[in-house]
Amino acid sequence: MDSHSPLFATYSRADIRVERGEGVWLLTEDGKRYLDFSGGIAVNVLGHAHPHLVDALKAQAEKLWHTSNLYEIPGQERLARRLVAATFADRAFFTNSGAEALECAVKTARRYQYTNGHPERYRIITFEGAFHGRTLATIAAGGQQKYLEGFGPKVEGFDQVPFADIEAVKAAMTDETAGFLIEPIQGEGGIRSAPVEFLRQLRKLADESDLLLIYDEVQTGVGRTGHFYAYQGSGVAPDILASAKGIGGGFPMGVCLATEAASAGMVAGTHGTTYGGNPLAMAVGNAVLDVVLQEGFLDNVQEMALLFKQGLASIADRFPDVVEGIRGEGMLVGLKMRVPNTSFIAALRAQMMLAVPAGDNVVRMLPPLVVAPEELREGLRRIEAAAESISTALGENAA
Ligand SMILES: *Cc1c(COP(=O)(O)O)cnc(C)c1O
Repeated sequence: MDSHSPLFATYSRADIRVERGEGVWLLTEDGKRYLDFSGGIAVNVLGHAHPHLVDALKAQAEKLWHTSNLYEIPGQERLARRLVAATFADRAFFTNSGAEALECAVKTARRYQYTNGHPERYRIITFEGAFHGRTLATIAAGGQQKYLEGFGPKVEGFDQVPFADIEAVKAAMTDETAGFLIEPIQGEGGIRSAPVEFLRQLRKLADESDLLLIYDEVQTGVGRTGHFYAYQGSGVAPDILASAKGIGGGFPMGVCLATEAASAGMVAGTHGTTYGGNPLAMAVGNAVLDVVLQEGFLDNVQEMALLFKQGLASIADRFPDVVEGIRGEGMLVGLKMRVPNTSFIAALRAQMMLAVPAGDNVVRMLPPLVVAPEELREGLRRIEAAAESISTALGENAA
């Protein structure tokens, strides 16, 4: 790493200089080929340089890049209509990132309570291990000390309770509570799934007290779990949902989805964005949906995910000294490690394969949703080789 880099030193980057991508493969400047199961951190749902996305972006680039939200943007209307048709939602607000989609979600919830005669209800109950982004409000919502430290007073209005603990939620509810914010599967937190029964109980609490249930599906959305949104697998719908990552397939964009009732207070002038929903982003977002919402696409993701999980389970069986267990759904898979997750990721890199660490000593595997069976098998071979190399080293150390 160049100590004179002109960049902020906020990342300790791996020494891989990527130049181009082809599907599940990443190619470096010096001609190495990596099998990419890091998926740009759950972003590249269609892999790298998917021809349909490339065509959509090129075609839009020749027509119009940006106009601002002062004018109507046909691609925005179209994408919103398609998202609404495919989900619980009635309305959409487009953003550039996940954190901004969360900011919109929290503002929408507060505004709902405000316009319904409860300006005192502004607090959101969130969950330990959560990750909601890096803005001042979303680090407060996430509640992780390592992200809050040194950045001044924590933004007011977030109360954190243990994950999936309904009694703790009830105990934390006050007259100032506006709603609940939860990831159906915690991503950064270590691929931890909220039990469906817990989500049902949250839904019930929200309905009983006129509170809003907000899902952060920035990581779990857009086919990642084998459902369009993860909540569709549980059948427990939210009032508001934040989406990003996969929705742009690599183009920076996000969206806040809400029911008519939940979004009713977000009238002209209450919220805005310069770039959010610009024609380039909308062209790519619509192209992503062309593929992900195709008949049978998500069924295929579930089939591939089963193949992957079975392979991983047999690796976990063979190397119990390395892998403790498998977590997650669809193409959002976590390997809970017995060795440090960073060591395993280094061992994978030695096999020319990329994966992402997560909390709770987990290695995240995020293949593109279009991964072929042969590519998954290749991934499994490399994962097995990495596990074997670590297991052998452990054996030698013990001997
Ligand atoms: C990545 C992520 C975010 C933040 O998204 P950004 O685009 O980095 O702002 C928020 N919530 C979850 C669950 C995420 O995985």
